[in-house]
Amino acid sequence: MMTTKIDQAFLDETVRVLQNYIRIDTTNPPGNESKAAKYLKGILEKEGIDCRIEESAPRRANLMATLRGKGSAKPIILLNHMDVVPAEASKWLVPPFSGKIRNGYVYGRGTIDMKGMGVLELMALIYLKRQGIVLDRDLIFLAVADEETGGVMGAKWMLDHHPELLNVEGVINEGGGGVLHDGQCWYEVSTSQKVICQVQITTRGEGGHASVPQEPSAVTTLVKALDRIRRHSFPTTLIPTVKEYYRRIAPLQKEAWQPAFKDLEGAVKRGDPVLEEIMAEPVYHALTHNTAAITVLKAGEKVNVVPTGATARVDCRLIPGTAPEDFLESLSEIIDNPDVEVKATFKGGDAPPTPHDTPLFHAIEKAVEAHDPGRIVTPHLVPGATDSRYFRAAGVNCYDFIPFRLSVEERMLIHGIDERISIENMGFGVEVMVDILLNA
Ligand SMILES: [Zn+2]
Repeated sequence: MMTTKIDQAFLDETVRVLQNYIRIDTTNPPGNESKAAKYLKGILEKEGIDCRIEESAPRRANLMATLRGKGSAKPIILLNHMDVVPAEASKWLVPPFSGKIRNGYVYGRGTIDMKGMGVLELMALIYLKRQGIVLDRDLIFLAVADEETGGVMGAKWMLDHHPELLNVEGVINEGGGGVLHDGQCWYEVSTSQKVICQVQITTRGEGGHASVPQEPSAVTTLVKALDRIRRHSFPTTLIPTVKEYYRRIAPLQKEAWQPAFKDLEGAVKRGDPVLEEIMAEPVYHALTHNTAAITVLKAGEKVNVVPTGATARVDCRLIPGTAPEDFLESLSEIIDNPDVEVKATFKGGDAPPTPHDTPLFHAIEKAVEAHDPGRIVTPHLVPGATDSRYFRAAGVNCYDFIPFRLSVEERMLIHGIDERISIENMGFGVEVMVDILLNA
């Protein structure tokens, strides 16, 4: 088993690379990832690693670098996105694109999501190259644009133009990672994600003066429809990834919960009362149910005018295997009013979960065991969405795993204020990443 240790100089260099990368503002929209791609290209070329940039649109770059192996095994893709979400600078402790260090943390938009991980992948490649290690396989470092607004100009564009990227052993990408909670630590490797289905609900009615209200109106009909959705409890849907996740993390739960975690399907079938308590945790609920979050409401403009129309938007996340059409139909049934229009404004494609009994998953398990012995490593369903969905939809195995150990508070910094990553995590992450690649 490999247990790579990097030296202080390599860690310092890793931190410097991250700081400079953070300083390139790739807020999306508009993205402007070309500047970031040029920066990464400069680093890779200095190391003698083959590298090319392809623009999907002006200033929207994607970068692909290959560290050549012997060619006796299929490549692994180290996927990362260069764009970041906007940052409200006035609320930050330090400017969000300064890359400043405070108390052992590098601050900046993208330090966790996901320039930090991009740097882990980059530095792992550089480490192997400098050590003169030639693996059985090529390693493809793939830095893409546009993840934060859907990936059409990034991961999707690259797959459309480079079908050879589908002929690989697997992809390592953002998603899961090490979780620190209540003095415990475990590692989640996301092998599946929920399917996005964005819905618009529209109602109509007679308009008029608000001094003589009439029932029903567009607004009251909408409120009723939304209330029915809000009150509805969607049925429990268990996929193998989630059952395995609960089984593996069972020992970390309080004693009363453990039997249900060990055999979730049995507990659901029996209707164990403890499930009510478990499913009251929003995360545990989201992993086992389709969800519908009401996020946007639009109706009248003026307080004394009854509007003739009202709309709501609902962000739905479906358990893989649920057909969006069936889900939409069930929403209409829940609303139970033919005058209410329910339509999807965006339907994500379903992507079959990646299996976890594979050499690459075991390589991750071994690398974690080497650096943090005795911890639980588990497959996981991520409630959000990453670029991995494009690869999974084409049948490629994707392991969404950032080798950082983050507390719940640190995780909340993603897309938030004062996003930051500890220097300790950067060192840990590079070492684990190198060993994943050596073990695979
Ligand atoms: Zn991200």
